[in-house]
Amino acid sequence: MNPVELAKSLKDGLDVLEDLDRIAHGGPSAMTPDDEIRLRWYGIYTQRPADDGYFMVRTRIPGGELTPRGLRTLAGIARDFGDDLVDVTVRQNIQFHWVRASNLPALLDRLHAAGLSTTESCGDCVRNIVGCPVSGVDAEELHDTRAIVREVNDFFVDNRAFSNLPRKFKIAISGCARHCTFPEVNDIGISAYRGASGVAFRVRVGGGLSTSPRFSRDLGVAIGAGDIAPVSAAIAEVFRDKGDRKNRKRSRLKFLVEAKEIPWFRDAVEARLGRTLERAPEPEPVRERDRVHLGIHAQRQEGLAFAGLSLVGGRTSGTALERIADLAEAYGSDRIRTTNSQNILILDLPESRLHEIRRDIAAARFDAGPSWVRRSIIACTGIQFCKLAVAETKSRAEAIVDELERRITIDEPIRISVTGCPNACGQHHICDIGLEGSVVSVDGVREEAFQVFLGGGVGVREAFGKRAGVRVPSERLADALVSLLEGYRELRTATETFQDFCLRAEPDTLAGLLRRESTNRPPSERPAASRSFGRGDHRWSSVSSKCSSHSSRPAASSAPQNASSAPSQR
Ligand code: SF4
Repeated sequence: MNPVELAKSLKDGLDVLEDLDRIAHGGPSAMTPDDEIRLRWYGIYTQRPADDGYFMVRTRIPGGELTPRGLRTLAGIARDFGDDLVDVTVRQNIQFHWVRASNLPALLDRLHAAGLSTTESCGDCVRNIVGCPVSGVDAEELHDTRAIVREVNDFFVDNRAFSNLPRKFKIAISGCARHCTFPEVNDIGISAYRGASGVAFRVRVGGGLSTSPRFSRDLGVAIGAGDIAPVSAAIAEVFRDKGDRKNRKRSRLKFLVEAKEIPWFRDAVEARLGRTLERAPEPEPVRERDRVHLGIHAQRQEGLAFAGLSLVGGRTSGTALERIADLAEAYGSDRIRTTNSQNILILDLPESRLHEIRRDIAAARFDAGPSWVRRSIIACTGIQFCKLAVAETKSRAEAIVDELERRITIDEPIRISVTGCPNACGQHHICDIGLEGSVVSVDGVREEAFQVFLGGGVGVREAFGKRAGVRVPSERLADALVSLLEGYRELRTATETFQDFCLRAEPDTLAGLLRRESTNRPPSERPAASRSFGRGDHRWSSVSSKCSSHSSRPAASSAPQNASSAPSQR
């Protein structure tokens, strides 16, 4: 039995709360390896550096639904316990860092008092349910799924029939056919469509990324809104009872679906339900790719709009969250949403006051009209806190945004991901440009670099990015991307998107573009010596960014959203 299965068999992850006082009083030295595994069921992870005794804490925010009061609670926790640092994740959660063991009970109490929770936001259980960030306000929505998201969440959370799954289990639910919730890469991806007899929901199963990415497959059934919770439960039961518990690298649902194929899996689900589900017609093509909801847009409620505020790589601060709560209270109702592209929306803004709202958003140092690159970039936790990381991500994303914004304009949505290791929490396999943290050894010195994956995407054209065969040193990342995008503009056909171009182009062409010096950089800014680099080519060994633990607290950010509140250096 592997160590995680053993720990779960000795005590359910949900029972670790009875150990929390011991851990809080004794600190990390009082914690056993099994405690460390089980704490994840309450969103609590040890963070890098390992010997400093700090924790990361992940809240669970079903569908990203928040209120100003909830946001103020999160802001206060960040300030009081987490060095004022906040990360919004790609599952609409909010994460804290730098939390001391002694503060964990008070942190959880404060969340619970505000109706918030961390329960099962990590661990081998049903993770946060992702919902469309514009549910209930989107003019094209076919079904408002907020109540369904809450129903599915309430069914699974704290449910001991599902608190020991073979591995993590991810569900996304949306009320339209535009796939903003990324059903393609969830264990269960449910989305509404308009069928011959009205609105129904499709179910996809077995998606996931990590080191062996798989797109989910259509289960071939059409279900009603009332079926979503029972069908999700039946799918999770099949996974619980038939999933691989021996090899954690093969234990996600995607491997079971792949091994057994859809007809077997559907039969197994129907056997659990005790009935046959209606068969769905072939899925229709997905209509668009831009899923970020940034900027100011009309709601379906007449006279109201929502504002999507961009946070580069999801990194912000408690102080910035307070400012968002202020804006929501001044102009909106009580509705705020986190998005699965790591941003935050304020809903219900009166269109008659948009002029002053835009002014106050800018005064609060947020960007509601982000540039093409600011709106498109995501980043995982990275080496600053993640023990599995090999590369820094958040500050790299910020540097890429700063430089690309200045040097190149692209008029189509191009998703960029900065991901700290092959585990793909930053979803780099499904981004147009996926940057995967890597390390190369040059003359015995470890250097941080990024593998480049190109042409990934979801929706109209599902594809995992293809490896360009180039490892770009971190300090040259932005320049390589400018050169790549310049090459795209030079070589594309009239109708080609960036993704199409990357999938068509020969690997050598893409590698050549990444290696060459971009043409729009002022000579004074160019490196003293032009560098060539690539597989097996170590001529860039003069690069100065050495791979380090990046364990210090982040420097003050130049990004608008957290400029006034960045945590101090240690
Ligand atoms: Fe950590 Fe790797 Fe996941 Fe990034 S992708 S958060 S570095 S495990």
